[in-house]
Amino acid sequence: MSYHPILEKNIQKLLPQELLSIEAVQQLLAAISRNFTSFERDKKITEHAFDVSETEYQQATRDLKTQNEIRKESIKKLKQAIRSLDPKAPQQFSDDDNDLIHIISFLEDQIRKTKALEQELINAKNAAEKAAMAKSEFLSVMSHEIRTPLNAIIGTIMLLQYQDLQPDQKELLNVMEISAENLLSLINDVLDYSKLEEGKIIFAERNINILHFLKNIKMANRVKAEEKGNLIKVIYDDDIPEFVVGDDVRLGQILNNLVSNAVKFTKEGTITIRVELKKSCKTDLELGFSIEDTGIGIPKEKQELIFERFTQANNNITREFGGSGLGLTIIRRLLQLQGSDIFIDSEPGIGSRFFFNLKFKKSTTEIREEAKQSGDLKFDLSGTHILLVEDVEFNVMVAQRMLRNWHATVDHAENGAVAVEKVKSNEYDLVLMDIQMPIMDGYTATNEIRKFNMALPIIALTASIITPDIQGRAAEAGMNGCITKPFNPNDLYSIIAEKSRKNK
Ligand code: ADP
Repeated sequence: MSYHPILEKNIQKLLPQELLSIEAVQQLLAAISRNFTSFERDKKITEHAFDVSETEYQQATRDLKTQNEIRKESIKKLKQAIRSLDPKAPQQFSDDDNDLIHIISFLEDQIRKTKALEQELINAKNAAEKAAMAKSEFLSVMSHEIRTPLNAIIGTIMLLQYQDLQPDQKELLNVMEISAENLLSLINDVLDYSKLEEGKIIFAERNINILHFLKNIKMANRVKAEEKGNLIKVIYDDDIPEFVVGDDVRLGQILNNLVSNAVKFTKEGTITIRVELKKSCKTDLELGFSIEDTGIGIPKEKQELIFERFTQANNNITREFGGSGLGLTIIRRLLQLQGSDIFIDSEPGIGSRFFFNLKFKKSTTEIREEAKQSGDLKFDLSGTHILLVEDVEFNVMVAQRMLRNWHATVDHAENGAVAVEKVKSNEYDLVLMDIQMPIMDGYTATNEIRKFNMALPIIALTASIITPDIQGRAAEAGMNGCITKPFNPNDLYSIIAEKSRKNK
């Protein structure tokens, strides 16, 4: 143990060695040593205090003064800032620059008010979210309710077209068909728009034969184009691979909309659909699409406006041709969600060109020959035994007639529970299963059937397009495909022919 040097010296001089080993003596010496040390430190501090010169003292006083001024200036600025934020504030504190307490309590008050406002905003946001959910649910229900009777109307029109009709009856039927299809596309547009607003779209990845696809778009618009004396041309870049991977339904929606607009606004002219390869790398490629017409064109000042919802460039023309003004809004949103955008080049009296680029993945799977040859359908289902599970009587009639026209034999079940029993006691080649039904819905019925029959192809029939990922849910339940009502006869036939053949 080492002690303070002075104490150490005195110990050496005065204390007998044997006392040093006593613990009490050691403690006493340690305490004395500590006292020596603190005495010296205090002495030094006191001496330093006396050493501070007059100049240092003056400097310290000046520093203090400056700090005080800075503080006053800060308070002044704080007051000015508060006053500019809240005009009522000046009455609450005096001009005295020292009323920091007032300022603090004022700020406290403000924080309290802001917090209350924040809570109100949170409540309003929650209420708005609830309202949006209610809107989406309402749309989902309405989608089903409106599309179900519409399905029956369109189906009946199709069935009537198979019959021998007088020319004037055919004409009336045509008007009915066009109106029903317009109504359907209007409903789809409104539902699609709300789905897009909620960001509920999931893009599928399927093989697309672009050339075939373009030909189908041309075919779908040919009748209307001919009626108006228009010619549709497809210009296709040979460098594009035969198959690319993307969402065919959404691409079809975009192109169909642009081509039908071009046909709508052109008389005795040409509509050119052009596709070219813009970029290609190992796994992806980018295609450039352009739809050009020689129609009425759009004035410069309207060119951005037409992409806004419910907006049309020319009201008179709209009255003549109909339309919701949602088509281009939906197209732009669909492209933006895929990292792209749409552009326009147009001159009144000369024509319009709408163009966009879109990325696709390169196809890695080998495409079967038969898949390549779609479009050449012979509508024959002889020897195919189908179970139709559907609760709406009118829909049953339409589907039954359509299937029987193709020579299929059809059995009917009015709900999922009856369907499960029928599958147990009969041999079917395929089941067409409605999703929403009383007693037992389509998902549950499929689950039940899958417990004892894994091989039977089951295709979902649905009138709702708003439910996200309906195909995913159908697949999860054990279904082999999905078709949306009102179905296009070609699509219905293709899916039955493909799936039931697999089963044989
Ligand atoms: P709509 O369902 O009314 O056709 P769109 O959003 O598809 O809605 O189009 C909005 C408006 O843009 C149309 O009403 C029309 O005024 C204008 N428009 C779109 N395409 C063309 C075109 N090819 N030529 C001239 N005008 C067009």
